[in-house]
Amino acid sequence: MTAVRHRFAIVIAFVAALGVGTSAAAAESHTRTHTVAKGETLGGIAQRFGCSPDAIRRANKLRGDLIRIGQRLDIPDRCDGGGSEGKNEIVVHTVLPGDTLAGIAKRYGDDVDAIAQRNRKVLGKKRFLKVGQKLRIAPTKRVQPPRKVRYKIEAGDTLGAIAARYELTVSDIKRMNPKKDPRRLRIGDTIDLWVEGPEVRSAAVGRPQNGELVNAQQLPAGRSWYRRRPNRSWGTNETIQLLTEAFDAVRKKHPNCHDMAVGDISAKHGGRLAGHKSHQSGRDVDLGFYFAKQPKAGPKAFLDARNHPLDYEATWELLTELIGPSAAKSRVEYMFIGYPVQKKLYDWAKKHGVKKQTLDWMFQYPRGSRAMRGIIRHEPGHTHHIHVRFKCPKGDNKCL
Ligand SMILES: [Zn+2]
Repeated sequence: MTAVRHRFAIVIAFVAALGVGTSAAAAESHTRTHTVAKGETLGGIAQRFGCSPDAIRRANKLRGDLIRIGQRLDIPDRCDGGGSEGKNEIVVHTVLPGDTLAGIAKRYGDDVDAIAQRNRKVLGKKRFLKVGQKLRIAPTKRVQPPRKVRYKIEAGDTLGAIAARYELTVSDIKRMNPKKDPRRLRIGDTIDLWVEGPEVRSAAVGRPQNGELVNAQQLPAGRSWYRRRPNRSWGTNETIQLLTEAFDAVRKKHPNCHDMAVGDISAKHGGRLAGHKSHQSGRDVDLGFYFAKQPKAGPKAFLDARNHPLDYEATWELLTELIGPSAAKSRVEYMFIGYPVQKKLYDWAKKHGVKKQTLDWMFQYPRGSRAMRGIIRHEPGHTHHIHVRFKCPKGDNKCL
């Protein structure tokens, strides 16, 4: 028994070492730069980029806090500490057979070096992973660690079919069960699978105007967004994933953009939400705009896009990230934006080479504020925020 365990650990350590090797090559220092503007402080800049002041000092070999207007600062792509809501939430990941540091980092949207640093007491300098180790992870994507499913082989099963059912590959299953010979599996044998995502999926039930939300997921605190009301930041798994991926994608392309202001999504169990007609089933969210210069009140308040100059590049990136490549493939059912702001965005996009054909299916504009066309529609009151309604998640049969 001990001999078998021992061999098991070596296999894992070997896989882990390979993982670290490849990721180290890929993780060259991607840095962003920021030009210091009037009135900015090192602490303020640090907070804005989700870094600690120390991390910025180190990246720029600064001794103290003194910075000059016009000075260009390197901002580490990922750094611990800071952030608009303090540190990211930490989840504990238990190392599974077949895990690599690179794989874990990718799964949670964390960084290999950041994980190694945070867990240096567990991993040591060589960063060897062993099954069962507990690692502290700061997820930017998926909050839920994978869960174990003990699968009992049934008549007619093939590894391929089991893999497909759990969105794994056959080689994933082999890695997860190194002690078992897949050619010798018999009916009644069990294999262990580690499956991504929450144990109990969320479900949107009923209509956005008269519905509920089951097993909701809360939007985590993030590096690129600000939750205005965490207790109203509950959505379906799909809503939370689409939002966090979109915010991170915008920040990656436009490192100088401010944090996205996230307003209400839904209450933990959905249902009526004071101040809204919809937002009842975890598919609706109110978002601020990206502004050229973050107004003083932002991102805690929504500000009117008619009076504050937009950061068009970042706002456009957000729209396209959320809406996707075509009307048919879009995960968004509607996006409500006030007609005058639609015009601004439409004109900007047209001027910057977006095809008319694309604008036609994206925007209601210029067909009039009552036209039943386009994903982006007019609603009164939506010049200071964007209301996004996602389509019903696949498999949510009671979602209307
Ligand atoms: Zn709304």
